[in-house]
Amino acid sequence: MGRKSFREKRRELVRKLISDGILRTPGVIRAFLAVPREEFVLPEYRDSAYGDYPLPILKNQTISAPHMCAIMCEALGIEPGNKVLEVGTGSGYHAALCAEITCPSRKRTEGYVLSVEIYEELAEFAKENLERTGYDDRVFVVVYDGSQGAPTGEEFDRILVTAAAPRVPQPLVELLAAPGKMVIPVGTGFFQGLVLVEKDEQGNVARRDLGGCVFVPLRGKYGYRRI
Ligand code: SAH
Repeated sequence: MGRKSFREKRRELVRKLISDGILRTPGVIRAFLAVPREEFVLPEYRDSAYGDYPLPILKNQTISAPHMCAIMCEALGIEPGNKVLEVGTGSGYHAALCAEITCPSRKRTEGYVLSVEIYEELAEFAKENLERTGYDDRVFVVVYDGSQGAPTGEEFDRILVTAAAPRVPQPLVELLAAPGKMVIPVGTGFFQGLVLVEKDEQGNVARRDLGGCVFVPLRGKYGYRRI
């Protein structure tokens, strides 16, 4: 399968997500057209890289379905130059999308993504994928329990959590800049609601439900399971 046909499949998927009304914003659409999902899946799934469903990665985890990445990116409204925190690096694909929005390859900004992953093995997998695709200068991967926040203690304009939490972890609300936005799946281990947490300039926090979703469980101190 040559690169050209991956590019063609990527364009088709983007066209479908636009016609379904899921992809709407030019910066998000550009990111979906730029990031090669086939470089973030396991080699045996490369030919399925542009199916709109999750795929298994290592440690029984999954790379999220493209439409779910799109819903989260659109809800976050990442602006160029934003500092973004991702909890749950997995393959690194969603982090690369966010990096392409906050710091586009064609028009670099100060924006970057700090992505934290609880499993060393997945952090290594993601780092290799990000290096190969040239995002390692804008995405920094750290092994850390992201349910407790980030190792640096800095604030973030945008936070995305890509694993399901029993409730919104307070340490993450505290790391959110004012103004800032976070998206996080909240619910049981089997089914969750995607929640948008918005902090205004005064630091007031509001919460909006965006609909149902299914994610693997968040582990760690404020997650479901300790490891
Ligand atoms: N965003 C990923 C998909 C992630 S699947 C992608 O684009 O591929 C969820 C990930 O969250 C898994 O890799 C899992 O190991 C990680 N995870 C679960 N609990 C975590 C925690 N407390 N801190 C950091 N990562 C966590």
